[in-house]
Amino acid sequence: MNTIGHLINGQLVTTSQRMQDVYNPATGEVSKQVALAPKETVEDAIAAAQAAFPAWRDTPPLKRARVMFRFKELLEQNSDKICQMIGEEHGKICHDAAGELQRGIENVEYACGAPELLKGEFSKNVGPNIDSWSEFQPLGVVAGITPFNFPAMVPMWMFPLAIVCGNTFILKPSERDPSSTLYIAQLLQEAGLPEGVLNVVNGDKEAVDVLLTDDRIKAVSFVGSTPIAEYIYATASANGKRCQALGGAKNHAIVMPDADMDNAVNQLLGAAFGSSGERCMALSVAVAVGEEAADALVAKMQTAMKNLTVGEYSDKTNDFGPVITRDHQQKVVGYINSAEADGAKVVVDGREPNISGYENGFFVGATLIDGVTAEMQSYKEEIFGPVLQVVRVNTMEEAMQLINDHEYGNGTCIFTRDGEAARYFSNHIQVGMVGINVPLPVPVAYHSFGGWKRSLFGDLHAYGPDGVRFYTKRKTITQRWPSSGVREGVSFAFPS
Ligand code: NAD
Repeated sequence: MNTIGHLINGQLVTTSQRMQDVYNPATGEVSKQVALAPKETVEDAIAAAQAAFPAWRDTPPLKRARVMFRFKELLEQNSDKICQMIGEEHGKICHDAAGELQRGIENVEYACGAPELLKGEFSKNVGPNIDSWSEFQPLGVVAGITPFNFPAMVPMWMFPLAIVCGNTFILKPSERDPSSTLYIAQLLQEAGLPEGVLNVVNGDKEAVDVLLTDDRIKAVSFVGSTPIAEYIYATASANGKRCQALGGAKNHAIVMPDADMDNAVNQLLGAAFGSSGERCMALSVAVAVGEEAADALVAKMQTAMKNLTVGEYSDKTNDFGPVITRDHQQKVVGYINSAEADGAKVVVDGREPNISGYENGFFVGATLIDGVTAEMQSYKEEIFGPVLQVVRVNTMEEAMQLINDHEYGNGTCIFTRDGEAARYFSNHIQVGMVGINVPLPVPVAYHSFGGWKRSLFGDLHAYGPDGVRFYTKRKTITQRWPSSGVREGVSFAFPS
């Protein structure tokens, strides 16, 4: 059986003490094993990154960026292979994997602008013959810990930018679908990155805890579920590290009575069920304003959902694939059961999808639940599966209150034809990423990504301009060159 190891100082290494099975979620079979790094292996990676830092820090940003240009080409040349690796272990259909990869590549393209991004700020004559400037210096060795649901994209939210800023990096990918991430790191090596600048350690809590406590790690970026994000933020901060920890979500779409209902239904289908709902920006709650809009929405969704097909990643006719594990499949079904037990109506039931030829796969069919209320467990918690819940309210204010009261604040969207309502919504809603007739308002690579409330712990969002700030520290220098013969006297007061 294939064993997936680690990339340390440019070399692939394996450790044999602890292993974890990696599944093909469409068949339910174990396809590979991943080595779980012990403390010593993570320390080897940190030592390699620490040793590589001085030379990389002093490499001109333009030369660092050139490595990223070559990396982008290699990602494009090998895109089919990467998408296949994602499909085999994550289960997402190939054209969705291609979209994920493209979003990752866009972050590499942004990182190619390193010389511009690191230009700094300069002020001449801040005082008589005195100049001052701010420059942005790398932090040192930084770490990234990433989730299973975007094994290519989310790591590329982090390491390309951190590396062009002059840092060296330790990546700890998800142990559930690690192959594509490791392969992408090898491509960066092939693009000419010096050994030790990017290291990958596969593993679990044992590896993560080393990254959170070792003094040589200066900053930690995390993306994953909220309980772990909170733990990462608290532990990294207590150990004196800069930390940004992005967590879970419950993204609501408000469907106004004046919305183009056919368009809203089309958008909701993709945003709720795409990637089996395993996206942190998935729309999992539709809040319909008024009974008439709610009835129309539910009826049209019910009809449209008859045409959805669920299945294996390589079949281009499928709309989405399995969820990640058997445990997760049962968890999603458990939420549907609990909504029903709490009095909601399961309008389209995906609990027994019956995929011919893939009976042992971790599939859940698209599910629509009507009559959900804020008190229900299925409403309060993140389901992370192909389940869309409909909440009925009477006014837009009521809909906004629901969203503002929810513990998560990652993404949201409003479907309407009323510009005034949309403007009011985007101005007042307590959510970090907002769409107006755009169901998945994921910021492009030259903005930054992040939620509010318990969807993000930390001050700076991921990638884009906030990413540059996160991976650098500002140094401000003030200089004067006294001309010979002109010396100032002693002064004990601030100049006025
Ligand atoms: P997860 O929290 O289980 O795992 C994320 C990472 O943390 C993995 O690398 C894992 O190995 C590690 N980890 C898990 N348990 C740990 C522990 N006890 N101590 C230390 N490290 C631990 O998340 P997941 O299931 O892989 O991903 C799905 C979650 O990620 C969802 O909640 C989703 O909303 C969230 N997510 C958020 C964003 C965002 O940008 N906000 C993006 C993608 C995914």
